[in-house]
Amino acid sequence: MNRPAACLFDLDGLLLDTEPHHARAWSQAATRFGLLLSPDQLLSLRGRRRSDNVDQVRIWIAEAGLAVPSAAELLAVQQPIAIRLLRGAAPMPGARRLLERLRDLQVGMALVTSSGRDAVERKCAPHPWLEIISERVLGDDPELVAGKPAPDPFLLAARRLGIAPGSCWAFEDSLAGAQSARAAGCVVHVVPGTALPAAALHELQATADTVLGSLEDLRLD
Ligand SMILES: [Mg+2]
Repeated sequence: MNRPAACLFDLDGLLLDTEPHHARAWSQAATRFGLLLSPDQLLSLRGRRRSDNVDQVRIWIAEAGLAVPSAAELLAVQQPIAIRLLRGAAPMPGARRLLERLRDLQVGMALVTSSGRDAVERKCAPHPWLEIISERVLGDDPELVAGKPAPDPFLLAARRLGIAPGSCWAFEDSLAGAQSARAAGCVVHVVPGTALPAAALHELQATADTVLGSLEDLRLD
């Protein structure tokens, strides 16, 4: 039977099409401090917590020999851009139908996202169907020690659902997220974003058990 005990879902780039907006916000914020981020740098920010990305961008600014803003100064530029852009994020193809099908099959579900509570609430507000998933591990979850790519977020989600990680299917679009799910011992399904460079796609595929064109391609018995 091709059916999991539980499904653990990433949010950004997996259920909602937010990644282009996140990338644009980091890109514009870094530019404000004199740094042009490369496509590879922007890709490496995917799937990670805001606090981890702030640290990373500040390191890149320092490495470029530029004046390094404080974390607060960087976020004061990046956050308003991100908030404005993310209002328009659309569902990923098949996301809503898959959640409804899993609910009907009474499969346990959890959201496992690097986004913090305020950002999750903002992004989910236009999409009430996301409330189908009641269990949530957020990037600023008080029980969470390390974020993706560490296994902690998926281990915590499985523990809260009372299901062994190896019996959970994890759904991810980013390398950091797929690495996190694999390290936790989950079955890893990846849905690579479009326009992913070949090397990044290969690395993502190597981390996954299955690669889906979209969530519409998942087969459940
Ligand atoms: Mg993601």
